[in-house]
Amino acid sequence: MGECLFCRIVSGEVPSDRVYEDDEILAFKDINPQAPIHVLLIPKKHIPTVLDMGEEDMRLVGRLFKVAGDIAREMGIAESGFRLVVNCNRDAGQAVFHFHVHLLGGRGFSWPPG
Ligand code: 5GP
Ligand code: ZN
Repeated sequence: MGECLFCRIVSGEVPSDRVYEDDEILAFKDINPQAPIHVLLIPKKHIPTVLDMGEEDMRLVGRLFKVAGDIAREMGIAESGFRLVVNCNRDAGQAVFHFHVHLLGGRGFSWPPG
């Protein structure tokens, strides 16, 4: 998956502002933040969309959400609140086809989303 942008971020070929890393998860700041706090959490393994998740990925993707909560707590937005977003395919505007969770916080968000 040499051509995938987020795989290149995992390998370090493309620089990123990392906020968390372990053997299977990487979290880094979004280059075009939509809120005061905008972090992307990705599995290091290349999974294009949520539709490509296999049974063997369930624990990993569960951990992504646990780590998102830990980062929110660390960044001081746990109590005020935050939003976790996963875009899938065209109608949701998915731009990078390496599964990722957006962690957005530091301001209020409207519902329903645009
Ligand atoms: P999507 O629309 O696919 O859910 O979100 C992709 C996100 O990746 C966007 O919020 C975009 O700003 C972010 N992004 C795109 N290219 C880069 C990059 O090179 N570095 C970082 N840190 N974020 C990126
Ligand atoms: Zn990838």
